[in-house]
Amino acid sequence: MERVHNFNAGPAVLPEEVLREAQADLFNYKGMGLSVMEMSHRSKEYQAIIDETHAAVKRIYNLGDDYDVLFLQGGASMQFLMVPMNFAHNGKVANYIHTGVWSKKAIAEAKKIGKQVHLAASSEDKSFSYIPKTHQLSENPAFLHITTNNTIYGTEWHHDPEVAPGVPLIADMSSNFMSKPIDAQKYSMIYAGAQKNVGPAGCVVVIIKKDFLATAQSGLPSMLDYNIHAKNGSMYNTPPSFTIYMIGLVLKWIEEMGGLEKVAANNVAKAKYVYDAIDASNGFFRGTVVPEDRSLMNITFRMATEELEALFISEAKKAGMIGLKGHRDVGGCRASTYNSLPLTATHALAEFMKDFMKKHG
Ligand SMILES: *Cc1c(COP(=O)(O)O)cnc(C)c1O
Repeated sequence: MERVHNFNAGPAVLPEEVLREAQADLFNYKGMGLSVMEMSHRSKEYQAIIDETHAAVKRIYNLGDDYDVLFLQGGASMQFLMVPMNFAHNGKVANYIHTGVWSKKAIAEAKKIGKQVHLAASSEDKSFSYIPKTHQLSENPAFLHITTNNTIYGTEWHHDPEVAPGVPLIADMSSNFMSKPIDAQKYSMIYAGAQKNVGPAGCVVVIIKKDFLATAQSGLPSMLDYNIHAKNGSMYNTPPSFTIYMIGLVLKWIEEMGGLEKVAANNVAKAKYVYDAIDASNGFFRGTVVPEDRSLMNITFRMATEELEALFISEAKKAGMIGLKGHRDVGGCRASTYNSLPLTATHALAEFMKDFMKKHG
């Protein structure tokens, strides 16, 4: 069977080359007579896999020895808790820019554990249809937390934000991690659930500046303590070993393709097909986001009625395009166009949109 055009928001499409390599390795990894899934995480062969994945994250984002990379579990959602737990202490205030469902959850976790929270900016006034262009920090900020791509609302930061000197910037990059070049040095911490852009579910990649890590609260429960994970090379307990191996393959695929410049150029070209179809439709398809903040990863749009949207989604499925239903919190349609999605998929979607409009417009 042919593979479908997979517009799922996460877990999401993976590169065909990566799937084939994993398939070949699955039965017998490099002549060892077992798969990575069956290997001890303490073996020297597995150590080489995690070390290489760690090194690839740093190479791709141009990071030096002043940064560490952790591979943790509990998803990005666990980071919503760990970030304020580790860093909003000594009376410091957790600052957030609120841009949708995920930042709302991050803020809620900080409050649940009794941390002082300040909303530095919010786009809730206009249904999260834009990225705030300014923010106001609290006194004594522990950090400023942003969500660089809003998977559900379809907005994206297209530049690294300017933050007052000395204020640690923390980003949830789950849905646009490794999708374009960034100035990674600007961030004290970046985290991303793997299942959107760099692998299967089961692992969250945490990039953290060592001097920031050194300021974390000590004496926390072990599994919630970044320093314990860092001291143990992400092997305080059994890491998500197979997912880390898969991330390694995806990062190798990115580097072989020519790195983030190339990835970004592909992502721009892919998204353009769909946004052009929206913009040329005279309102038949309505984008939900102000044009300058449109996401290159999650393209959200509405149609005149929910019935028409349901028909669009079911007809698209018959044409081999899946995953186009909007998130259950917002409805509508959403095409997720992560790194691994081929250009042919968004081209096919744009053509399908035009045909659908001819029939129903
Ligand atoms: C998917 C997503 C999350 C949640 O990730 P989990 O790994 O399911 O916890 C958090 N933030 C963003 C921006 C996301 O896209």
